[in-house]
Amino acid sequence: MPVNKDPKPPRSRTIANLVLWVATGLLLLNIAFTGFSGSQTAKEPYSMFIHRVQDQEVLKASVGQDEIRYQVKTTDGQPGEIYTTTPIFDLQLPQLLEDNGVEFAALPPPKGQWIGSLLSWVIPPLIFIAVWRFFLTRNGGGPQGALSIGKSKAKVYVEGEAGKITFEDVAGVEEAKAELVEIVDFLKTPKRFTDLGAKIPKGVLLVGPPGTGKTLMAKAVAGEAGVPFFSISGSEFVELFVGVGSSRVRDLFEQAKKQAPCIIFIDELDAIGKSRSSSSFYGGNDEREQTLNQLLTELDGFDASDTTVIVLAATNRPETLDPALLRPGRFDRQVLVDRPDLKGRQAILAIHAKEVKLADDVDLQQIATRTPGFAGADLANLVNEAALLAARRGHTQVQQADFSEAIERLVAGLEKKSRVLSDKEKEIVAYHEVGHALVGSVMPGTDRVEKISIIPRGMAALGYTLQLPTEDRFLRDEAELKGQIATLLGGRSAEELIFGNITTGASNDLQRATDLAEQMVTSYGMSQVLGPLAYDRAQRNMFLDNGMGNARRPISEDTAKAIDTEVKTLVEAGHQRALDILQTNRSLLESLAQQLLESEVIEGDSLREQLKQVMLPEAPLDLEGVPPAAVTTV
Ligand code: ADP
Ligand code: MG
Ligand code: ZN
Repeated sequence: MPVNKDPKPPRSRTIANLVLWVATGLLLLNIAFTGFSGSQTAKEPYSMFIHRVQDQEVLKASVGQDEIRYQVKTTDGQPGEIYTTTPIFDLQLPQLLEDNGVEFAALPPPKGQWIGSLLSWVIPPLIFIAVWRFFLTRNGGGPQGALSIGKSKAKVYVEGEAGKITFEDVAGVEEAKAELVEIVDFLKTPKRFTDLGAKIPKGVLLVGPPGTGKTLMAKAVAGEAGVPFFSISGSEFVELFVGVGSSRVRDLFEQAKKQAPCIIFIDELDAIGKSRSSSSFYGGNDEREQTLNQLLTELDGFDASDTTVIVLAATNRPETLDPALLRPGRFDRQVLVDRPDLKGRQAILAIHAKEVKLADDVDLQQIATRTPGFAGADLANLVNEAALLAARRGHTQVQQADFSEAIERLVAGLEKKSRVLSDKEKEIVAYHEVGHALVGSVMPGTDRVEKISIIPRGMAALGYTLQLPTEDRFLRDEAELKGQIATLLGGRSAEELIFGNITTGASNDLQRATDLAEQMVTSYGMSQVLGPLAYDRAQRNMFLDNGMGNARRPISEDTAKAIDTEVKTLVEAGHQRALDILQTNRSLLESLAQQLLESEVIEGDSLREQLKQVMLPEAPLDLEGVPPAAVTTV
């Protein structure tokens, strides 16, 4: 229900229309005048005019700079036709005219010319103003006209509306929920707190990755407390016209205070709240700065204890916010809304699965296990994808198989049946993928291999090996990271071993392996040579804002060289390890690749049974004698 309580007549639109009409009228007038002065007379060459003068045919003439008008005599000496000609600069002309008895005078400026020149100055600005007003009006939106551009576009949701959202609809973020339950108490019974002399918090900032349910949770707070909920998104503040953003903020708070107790929710706060110092990097953005200043003023300008207005805001980029926003008395409470853990995912799945018909074989816990890193929005999407798939397959209920396929789609992208590989390419891809699978099945810390496929998927993958985790992992140790590097190089190693040749297909694998090795050396302190130092500065999640993302500490040339060598050694070791494993299991590699070429997909028990046969090389390489599992990463 958008608020619209401004009864003012659309005055400025009338003005704009008037201006347009006047401008058009004047323009037509101007055309009429200029037309008049040049019409109705025949034009003759200047030589003809001179001849007529010399033959004494001309009665009178008006001589102007650009034009001479003259009237000839009829045969009986009466005034006749009027002609014009374009003169040539001729100082003798007056003498000639006089000698031939022509009555002459200078030409008066043509009628209407002054209007013309006036109009040519006046009209363009008028048109410009008219157009400007027109856009301003449209920007203000709706019937209120241009004067309303400063009015806030906040939407208000009021208690009792259909589809009310409560805490029941939010799961997997229990800590955040607990914090917000407290806010609901403030809104419901402010007196209980103020009587004790406690100050009610003014601003609560919800911080977390996209899709974790920040917006949802803010709505739930309003739903639970049963108070009006003014919602506006920070990106709506970023407007073309200077001064609009700040007046919108002022207006939003004005409306809210009238309706207290209530909640103001500013979504995507980072759009206005970006640090002023970081924005001045590009010379600043005055408009946003003004809006931010207004917001700060408003936050300071009311006392939550007597007007129970609580400002909730959400952002996924807290590090870019201006520190002034986070000061006590403003957004002094920060609530982390993080990606859900295993139990949380299961609970979120349960909420969204209520909306679809589930078959008996569906195991939500298993689905939750296989979707680490999924945020609430991803899980909601997953349930929907599974339902769509089930419908397409003609099922009446959503089955576990539909969920499995949906996960695969979300993880690896859509199957691309149209991308046809040649037989040779298929063979290479088959060996490449089996290479990953074989190495991955024996490396520590890599996820279980669920499926190998050579059906192209997504943007770039020609084939893929799907490894799904069996548990949430928060720490990885050194041996596991080395295992991952080896697994990533498994594909390329298989190509080398079988074809003695390398294709471009492994570039993404190499990229990831090298990144991982570099992190081990520069962030996790896993290199004996370089020691437990972090050569990368703590990653400040600055995204693309100022192009200073992942900065490296100032290092000496020697250190740079040492890093390069260490990274190379790590990747090379992984490569060697992969080659060793594949060599040891060469017959299995060949047979799996052949199966894959025939069926395009190997998965399930058949795959698991075969991967169990993978043997480790006789003498596993001792990688630089580092005691395994000595170091963990966070
Ligand atoms: P955010 O604002 O954090 O980016 P949203 O609140 O817009 O995320 O979440 C988008 C949708 O994803 C919600 O409408 C809801 O359907 C689903 N969702 C996200 N998080 C959760 C959660 N914790 N519990 C239940 N559903 C969730
Ligand atoms: Mg949101
Ligand atoms: Zn690969």
